[in-house]
Amino acid sequence: MKIGVLALQGAFLEHINVLKSLNIDTFEIRKKKDLETDFDGLIFPGGESTTMGKLLKDLNLFQPIKNLIEDGMPVFGTCAGLILLAENIENQENAHFKTLNVTVKRNAYGRQLGSFITTNKFLDFEIPMTFIRAPYISKADKNVEILSVVDNKIVAVKQNNQLATAFHPELTNCNKVHKFFIEMIKNNKS
Ligand code: GLN
Repeated sequence: MKIGVLALQGAFLEHINVLKSLNIDTFEIRKKKDLETDFDGLIFPGGESTTMGKLLKDLNLFQPIKNLIEDGMPVFGTCAGLILLAENIENQENAHFKTLNVTVKRNAYGRQLGSFITTNKFLDFEIPMTFIRAPYISKADKNVEILSVVDNKIVAVKQNNQLATAFHPELTNCNKVHKFFIEMIKNNKS
């Protein structure tokens, strides 16, 4: 199994390190040619979604990646990565890939709670969650599975082959969410 990590900006190295610790083959996606590699899954890291969206377009990566997701390539977006996938962004006219049928609110926790760490349920697991100027999901369509809710806000979802979290599992020592994504890829292959 091989997983590509979008490496234009943001916290991509942390994802690569988690994948390596799980003995998963991984590579960085920085330009269109990188997509010629044979791979089974894709990760969008945290960072700044507007910047990543712009770089994706400038580097001609946007449409090929959108096609891959629409064709069922498993994808996992964290924080800014969730925003890239969302169909709608509150108070913003243009969204990015729009493949995940949710509405997100950016920088949703205000200034005081801009960044925080908590422990909460992701499916049946109690896991540490790091939020950094995080979004939350303010609306999810019926076809979206809700995997985690923190303070009445949806913070993790799955829709077919798309997984997204408002928090950063790559910044904790818990790899349960990455393992969950790896299982999604295995199920997609079988
Ligand atoms: N606030 C950032 C954005 O809107 C996301 C923050 C993050 O990825 N940690 O793009």
